[in-house]
Amino acid sequence: MISFDVCECGAPLRRMERPTPTPTGNEVLLKVLAAGVCHSDVHIWEGYYDMGGGRKIQLTERGINLPLTMGHENVGEVVALGPQATGVKIGDRRLVFPWIGCGECKVCREDEEQLCMAARSLGVYRNGGYADHLLVPHPRYLLEIGDIPPERAAPLACSGVTTYGALKKLGPVLKQEPVVIIGAGGLGLMALALHKAMGGTGAIVVDIDPAKRDAAKAAGATATIDGAAPDAHKQIIKLTNGGAWSVVDLVGAASTVKIGTDCLIKGGKLIVVGLFGGSVTISTPTIPLKAMTIQGSYVGSLTELKELIALVRRTGLPSVPIGKRPLAEAGAALNDLKAGKVVGRLVLMPH
Ligand SMILES: [Zn+2]
Ligand SMILES: [Zn+2]
Repeated sequence: MISFDVCECGAPLRRMERPTPTPTGNEVLLKVLAAGVCHSDVHIWEGYYDMGGGRKIQLTERGINLPLTMGHENVGEVVALGPQATGVKIGDRRLVFPWIGCGECKVCREDEEQLCMAARSLGVYRNGGYADHLLVPHPRYLLEIGDIPPERAAPLACSGVTTYGALKKLGPVLKQEPVVIIGAGGLGLMALALHKAMGGTGAIVVDIDPAKRDAAKAAGATATIDGAAPDAHKQIIKLTNGGAWSVVDLVGAASTVKIGTDCLIKGGKLIVVGLFGGSVTISTPTIPLKAMTIQGSYVGSLTELKELIALVRRTGLPSVPIGKRPLAEAGAALNDLKAGKVVGRLVLMPH
């Protein structure tokens, strides 16, 4: 099999050839049909998270081993099954849930595998879909997609379930008050589409890039705001008649979290999703005085991904622009994403 691997942090991906694995036990081998290129792949490739104040977390010290085949948004066709694997057959097309845990701890037993402390996520801790084949540990992680094309289904496994999981945390207010979405890249456009599908009322989108603000407008944003404007939070307060009940920050930079907390109304909630990096100072009395909630959201659960597929099949696919690339352009796709040149989602098509 062929894969394009991170062999050294930040260095170009290397084309690797190795024997195609034979599935054992419950494992299932897929031929990769589509593999989304996600922004978190840029972080994994670079090898660190910026924690702010010059501090960096090295991912290789966090259990990520090189060489690694990245790619956690995968659709594949079943080509071989281990002797114990049931529920799928050769030729089935499936979306892969990549956020796999140990299967035994409290969160895994409660269907929150994505929060497992001993994560085995595909494309992060185990080899993923920047390859022509992908080994999945158990058929329970293979989800039916009906007639959704592979390149459109693949992003549901990360950008889809991440935004769905974040929007679900807003609770009933989602249908009552406009949401502020910070960041209009691939995640932002997905969030806009899903917010509408979930019955949301009104979305104000914040981005520093005018092209991305235009894309958000075209995708149905009720208003857009330049995140670089010094009074961005004041503009949001004005548009929401006193402050936002809910903000979803898909960037996670110091400046965006600051806008997110500054624009909240009393009792409002900020959900932070993005991993851009940095650190913020919050004056502590504002936390109780504004009765604010700051909550992190990391991808989503297996059940949430199943709910999301059902939602998409009922209400239609998010109209996020998809750019198809051959597998051999994995490195170029990452570079384009890092350079901010991508509107929507790039998907590798190995076959
Ligand atoms: Zn991702
Ligand atoms: Zn676990």
